[in-house]
Amino acid sequence: QPPVLEVKGLTTQFTGRKKAVTVVDQVDFTVQKGETLGIVGESGCGKSVTSLSIMRLLGKNGKVVAGSVLFEGRDTLQLEEREMRSIRGNRLAMIFQEPMTSLNPVLTIGRQIGEVLKLHTSLGQEERKRRAIELIAQVGIPRAGEIYGEYPHRLSGGMRQRVMIAMAMACQPQLLIADEPTTALDVTIQAQMLGLMRDMRQETGMSVMLITHDLGVVAEMCDRVLVMYAGQVIEAADVRTLLRSPKHPYTMGLIRSVPHNARGEKRLYAIAGNVPSPGEWPAGCRFAPRCPEAMPICQQQNPELMKMTDGSACRCWLHEAEAAAVGRESS
Ligand code: SF4
Ligand code: MG
Repeated sequence: QPPVLEVKGLTTQFTGRKKAVTVVDQVDFTVQKGETLGIVGESGCGKSVTSLSIMRLLGKNGKVVAGSVLFEGRDTLQLEEREMRSIRGNRLAMIFQEPMTSLNPVLTIGRQIGEVLKLHTSLGQEERKRRAIELIAQVGIPRAGEIYGEYPHRLSGGMRQRVMIAMAMACQPQLLIADEPTTALDVTIQAQMLGLMRDMRQETGMSVMLITHDLGVVAEMCDRVLVMYAGQVIEAADVRTLLRSPKHPYTMGLIRSVPHNARGEKRLYAIAGNVPSPGEWPAGCRFAPRCPEAMPICQQQNPELMKMTDGSACRCWLHEAEAAAVGRESS
């Protein structure tokens, strides 16, 4: 079966006051049908820009300058805006961290879900109302019939996030892109939301691209993981491989710095330094200034993403010999 999403060489730039800076740099990945792919990394590594590039929601300063984004076989980057609009929020849906910015404050919840249904289904008015109430109930909001007529500000953050999921689900997307969907929520509600997304995925068979900085969420939700650093993919593996035997020193640092309980206490380790800003990426390995294992070559040459014997991929000079062995085997 062909992948639902195939991203190749995706490169995105933003134009600042003086010049264009690259924010996402030749990113390649696929999302298979029914699969949940996690994208992890600290903020400022290009995770959100990757998803906004796919959705074509970069805003006027951002631009994809190279690469292709095949969604169900069609390159979304080449589509007319009109065609893109009929895919977005339909076969391809997205939920964001802060639902208040994507809900319209002057329209009732029911009206907003109804609009999505109107745009993407042939349901009549009465059927749309029934379906909207059904969706509100499905995402675990009590008194769905009443909530239908409420405005977003009357709902808690967790409830608004549920409404966002209901809207995303309204058209049964093939791919849901969720950008830090639970980051702003407290731990209990976060767990409920993740459970809800898992149920939805099970019921519909949709694929999910889940952007998060939380490896606990990754462990719970994802089949495969990409780790991004300074605009590039630095490691890609199935979730068990990644969590049990991470290969890139950055991934190891991320795993070591996971707090030992859900309230964020007992953080025993933090990766020294900060993610370099776009436009200030070092010439060699972009992680070198923070890497405890850095060698002379790391300062000079940025390694390629190399194939490992266990099927994962890693962008680090430490694994060059293993990658060479994989190369000999496959040739
Ligand atoms: Fe560290 Fe060098 Fe590997 Fe970069 S290439 S992660 S600096 S060891
Ligand atoms: Mg982000």
